[in-house]
Amino acid sequence: MDFSFTPEQEKLKKEFEEFFITEMKKAPPTYETGGLEAMFGSDVGWEFHLYMARELGKKGWLAMAWPEKYGGKDASVIDQVIFSEVRGYYGGPGVDIFGIGIVAPTLLVAASEKQREKFLPPIAKGELMYCQGWSEPNAGSDLASLSTTAVKDEDDYIINGQKIWTSGAHRADWMFILVRTNLEEKRSKGLTYLLLDMKAPGITVRPIEAMDGLHMFNEVFFDDVRVPIANRIGEENKGWEVTRQSMNFERSSIGIFSENQKTIEDLVRFVKETKRDGKPLAENQVIRNKLAELAAETEVGRAMAYNIAWMQEKGGLFLAASAASAAKVFGTELAQRLVYVGADILGQYSQVKESKWAPFHGKFETNYQNCMGLNIAGGTSEIQRNLVAWIGLGLPR
Ligand SMILES: Cc1cc2nc3c(=O)[nH]c(=O)nc-3n(C[C@H](O)[C@H](O)[C@H](O)COP(=O)(O)OP(=O)(O)OC[C@H]3O[C@@H](n4cnc5c(N)ncnc54)[C@H](O)[C@@H]3O)c2cc1C
Repeated sequence: MDFSFTPEQEKLKKEFEEFFITEMKKAPPTYETGGLEAMFGSDVGWEFHLYMARELGKKGWLAMAWPEKYGGKDASVIDQVIFSEVRGYYGGPGVDIFGIGIVAPTLLVAASEKQREKFLPPIAKGELMYCQGWSEPNAGSDLASLSTTAVKDEDDYIINGQKIWTSGAHRADWMFILVRTNLEEKRSKGLTYLLLDMKAPGITVRPIEAMDGLHMFNEVFFDDVRVPIANRIGEENKGWEVTRQSMNFERSSIGIFSENQKTIEDLVRFVKETKRDGKPLAENQVIRNKLAELAAETEVGRAMAYNIAWMQEKGGLFLAASAASAAKVFGTELAQRLVYVGADILGQYSQVKESKWAPFHGKFETNYQNCMGLNIAGGTSEIQRNLVAWIGLGLPR
């Protein structure tokens, strides 16, 4: 594998870096901890996300790998990965993980031309934000058993039911939702994929407060909510196939690894500068070993991510599906270990947000609480390991 970038890619990378270095100086303090909570959890955090989205949209970086006619740049998967790597390193918001990450790929693969022309440009410009209406109280890993219904009535579907864990539903403009349209069918064959305006009458968003008090999650209730049939993506009862096709886009998890790399660099600086019992922490053997191990693992993760992008460029996610699951498990579990080590090194000061003794402003304490969610969101580690076993190793389902 050749790890070096072309001169054009080097130039692009520099451009991304300069952009994030400049723009992140304007970030409100919520971004010191990073993560989705920084974005969804406060008005200032959300406003900065929207500002960054529009700036990235103007540059055409949100939709780099899309065709030009929908606002993209026809760029390669590798260019996209370089962008995600730089963005992860600087903790930059502005990329709607749902709109850019899931809805747009779905539209590109499964929507009609009319739908693409309507829905893609606002996503590329960073003007519309989405949330994901998939999980329900009794359907998480076993998503195919979901029970929110949509029944046809003239030109509309009428939706009734409930979603849960809907990140950012209180902020989003639109939702992409999976609903049951064939009420006789209990599994994936009866599901349909719709786009719905969060301002539609009959939608109630109820917050679920996290244990640190932040508001990211919601329950969303649907009470006779009308959605035009024109907003259905793909055929009725074929929503499951539609969702699976959309996975064929950048899924390298590179952002997790570059974010880890930045955290390790910060911790290394901290242990060099900080003395305990008269000696720099950098001389402590346990700390040195732990940081070295995490740095090595992060480098492994980066290689995994570029390998996935390379495979995708050669043959689509078909080749890389189990590698993408492996990278997600490895990256999220590594991020957890890193948070635990950081919290250990800082000791009780990791919990302090404002003090000269707390250079990380409570980042490790906040992330200590949040990091469990990393290997649940987007499919749990157990489910990802099942995929590696089944698709990657050819073991029975
Ligand atoms: C940070 C975060 C953000 C989220 N955002 C959203 C969102 O925006 N929209 C949305 O729709 N959902 C969202 N979710 C929900 C998420 O998709 C679900 O939590 C996840 O799919 C797991 O479902 P569950 O919680 O019902 O757990 P369950 O599916 O009940 O799983 C419970 C446990 O059983 C294990 N398990 C289940 N089935 C198997 C199996 N076949 N083999 C082995 N082990 C198994 C699981 O791994 C898990 O450990 C979010 C979750 C988190 C943590």
